[in-house]
Amino acid sequence: MSTWPAPSALDSRTQAFPVLTDAQISRLRPVGKLRQVQPGEILFEPDDTEVPCFVLLSGSLEIVQPNLTGERSIVTHNVGGFTGEMTMISGRRCLVRGRVAVAGEFLEITADDLRSIVARDAELGEIFMRAFILRRLALISEGLGNVVVMGSRHCAGTLHLREFLGRNGHPYTYIDLDTDKTSQELLDRFEVKLSEIPVVICNGRTVLRNPSTQELANCLGFNVSIDESQVRDLIIVGAGPSGLAAAVYAASEGLDALVIETDAPGGQAGSSSKIENYLGFPTGVSGQELANRAITQAQKFGAKMMVAHSVVKLNCDRRPYEIVLENGNVLAARSIVISTGAQYNKPPIANLKEFEGQGVYYGATYIESQLCEGEDVIVVGGGNSAGQAAVYLSQTARKVHMLVRSRELSETMSRYLIQRITQNPAIELLCKTEIVGLQGDRQLERVSWLNRTSGETSTHEIRHLFMMTGASPRTEWLRGCVALDDKGFILTGRDLEIATDVAQTSTWPLVRAPQMLETSLPGVFAVGDVRSGNVKRVASAVGEGAIAIHLVHRALAEA
Ligand SMILES: Cc1cc2nc3c(=O)[nH]c(=O)nc-3n(C[C@H](O)[C@H](O)[C@H](O)COP(=O)(O)OP(=O)(O)OC[C@H]3O[C@@H](n4cnc5c(N)ncnc54)[C@H](O)[C@@H]3O)c2cc1C
Repeated sequence: MSTWPAPSALDSRTQAFPVLTDAQISRLRPVGKLRQVQPGEILFEPDDTEVPCFVLLSGSLEIVQPNLTGERSIVTHNVGGFTGEMTMISGRRCLVRGRVAVAGEFLEITADDLRSIVARDAELGEIFMRAFILRRLALISEGLGNVVVMGSRHCAGTLHLREFLGRNGHPYTYIDLDTDKTSQELLDRFEVKLSEIPVVICNGRTVLRNPSTQELANCLGFNVSIDESQVRDLIIVGAGPSGLAAAVYAASEGLDALVIETDAPGGQAGSSSKIENYLGFPTGVSGQELANRAITQAQKFGAKMMVAHSVVKLNCDRRPYEIVLENGNVLAARSIVISTGAQYNKPPIANLKEFEGQGVYYGATYIESQLCEGEDVIVVGGGNSAGQAAVYLSQTARKVHMLVRSRELSETMSRYLIQRITQNPAIELLCKTEIVGLQGDRQLERVSWLNRTSGETSTHEIRHLFMMTGASPRTEWLRGCVALDDKGFILTGRDLEIATDVAQTSTWPLVRAPQMLETSLPGVFAVGDVRSGNVKRVASAVGEGAIAIHLVHRALAEA
């Protein structure tokens, strides 16, 4: 008997709740211990930590989720069934209650032992991982979490919290106050002010008013399994594609690795609705899907993930190195991978984010050029990257409107590019001009710009806008520790030789030269967008994350 949601086209019902064969169970027996259970016995509750996995040898177990009106039945496991979902791998708090329905004998396996079996035994690994992922996906699609978010579509705080939960793959129930009048009345009765929206009910008891992501993460125990006192082999700062790749390779190669992420994993790529140039995905993959797979993969191998915490300082005058968090806590590691990425400089246009990937782009590659074939496009920026984009796009677009804030291009661009732009009939150069408005229904449809010389604002039917206004690295927390280039990106490997500020910021202390992705601090590596000279692509970020781990092994061997 089960009240689990209807099966999907993938037959997720069977794959989410497979029945193990005797042979498979016999491979699990050595790592488990036998436990006799009685009807009504509760084996785990929502919010519990360190919940073991139970494999049913006889008897049956109901999985239910308590809610404000009682409890909702999720599934009943019978002989050969097993408990658990993604929290078993991530180490986060349990979301459901497990209650024995029929007396019997269960095999109890700790989460650590299960994780090592999953990593060692390919067949069992596949069965458990697939089941855990499908169970979590079903919880998400049914909104069967331990958190209720009451907010408004028009409120930035609500969007941010929902994005945070979504990016963390955490199921939640959303109540839209714009449409749900009863909830609004409830909030009025409790005198919840407008500034206190969104309201979050966490674990059915704690009410948070307009919480930060960190408060929410604390309430849900996202970081509960992380021992901050442990000196680790490796700390990875930033969970974009490069950091996640480093985590997968580090953990799979036996390193004790912790990833620290300011927000939720995924990085810049997480905001890309479709990455079409990543190897192996001919029809494209959403940045978040790619990130979710990487997170699961890293956690499967035992990497730990701390979210909603920022690294604000590196204590680099001692080894192990020390990472200081915004709350003052200090974590130590023998080696560090910095993968904090870069932030694209964005002009202050209110609804810019709304159109990212839907007409607003930060890179002009073949894919984007095909999207706007035969149409008008806008390139914003006066630097070399903007110039190259304008020239490149002029080959496919009908017309390129190049908007530059300065009086003339020579202030910011190489001469050869200026020549190509001014001689190209498909490029219209508009100096002292700025975007002042974007309009469209999901996809960008119209753009308004202001010509500061004439004072005139005009609106144009243009569906493609390329923001080539540069990117700023997220390295403020590293100043004084590692050598940076003149724009603040981290210098690594041979680039350190030509750096002028190396001598000022640090002195390379070893006889050997710095390794390829190594910074001016031995054992500290930089990968992805944050690295000086990096190609700002998901594939290169992932590649660098993987290479860095190979180099980390060498650095650890000499430490
Ligand atoms: C809208 C959009 C679409 C894109 N589309 C494509 C595409 O189609 N193809 C492609 O190849 N590339 C694309 N890119 C570029 C690609 O996303 C980046 O090159 C890639 O994400 C870089 O990965 P990264 O890991 O180096 O950095 P990021 O992805 O920027 O990740 C860095 C992470 O570090 C975290 N962080 C920063 N500072 C700290 C700190 N002090 N403490 C803790 N954590 C910190 C950040 O929160 C972030 O999660 C796109 C980018 C954007 C914005």
